[in-house]
Amino acid sequence: MRKPTRKREVGRGERVLPGVWRLRLPLPWPGVPHCNAWALAAGDGIVLVDTGMHEPGSMAHLERALDQAGLSVEHVRLLVCTHAHVDHCGEAPRIRERTGCEVWMHPARGHLPAGGGDAEQPLVRRVEVARQSGVPEAPLRRWAEQRRASGSGLSGELVSDRDLVPGVTVASDLGEWRVIETPGHAPSHVCLHQPERRLLISGDHLLGRVSLYFDHGHTPDPVGEFLGSLDAVESLDARLALAGHGRPFTDVRAHIEANRTLVAERLDAVRAALRESDDTAYELTRRVHGDAFGEHSATWLLSQTLSWLDHLEARGEAARHAPSPDEPEIWSA
Ligand SMILES: [Zn+2]
Ligand SMILES: [Zn+2]
Repeated sequence: MRKPTRKREVGRGERVLPGVWRLRLPLPWPGVPHCNAWALAAGDGIVLVDTGMHEPGSMAHLERALDQAGLSVEHVRLLVCTHAHVDHCGEAPRIRERTGCEVWMHPARGHLPAGGGDAEQPLVRRVEVARQSGVPEAPLRRWAEQRRASGSGLSGELVSDRDLVPGVTVASDLGEWRVIETPGHAPSHVCLHQPERRLLISGDHLLGRVSLYFDHGHTPDPVGEFLGSLDAVESLDARLALAGHGRPFTDVRAHIEANRTLVAERLDAVRAALRESDDTAYELTRRVHGDAFGEHSATWLLSQTLSWLDHLEARGEAARHAPSPDEPEIWSA
């Protein structure tokens, strides 16, 4: 019997519209096999939106994807990143260095350590938050060791030449793209909107497959920000979304509605757990997720629970207190 092997992903490029190419780039993450960068025709070159993550072989995947689109890295005249997560900006330092292009990103990108600097500091803070949330010492230590051992996903020091904020436009052969601030998934998240063609480059704000993630701990209420961003994007009335992961999709409104429904369901689950009994965020996460809560999903699920709790706290539906400075915080309804 042969052991099933995981299909090796490689970079792929395909045209989705005249002047728009999807570059599908592999990721080393379980459950998230690839991300999308987008190439937009612009004069004698392209605007590249997002880059994929930096890891061994990642530039070759990008080159391969661009080559399938009849393009090359040397065509990049401008690099725009939807947000400061490494699967969207990891190769930005290397592409900037290689092509001399400018990089534009939103200024609220402090949630990503800029690379080249001290990577230990944010890790120490995350460990502190985890301890405060009631995560036991042994798995917390294993997690921190793993994080120290894995690469940053960044190809160098992340530099932005221009703030990607409302009012800034990105020129392309399809017309100008406007910057729409869409915080929630990450504080630095923006979407790009092409109003005449009703196109939306939605990054991780709206994905083909509805799934939620909030970069917790940088702003008071990421869930509240995300809901506001859904409203902002709904008012654009886009007819095609080019997402950061998965296929492009046309039923943009239905996706926005499905995101709202999922937010409401998750909040209800946390409310129900709080009604049962007061608890630490760690124990609440275990109770809400049951069997899905394991060592590999724990940090992901815990940061989501903390985001739900922050939102309930902002709405006056939950409160926290620490029995003593050394003990984990207890949440109550
Ligand atoms: Zn992201
Ligand atoms: Zn992503």
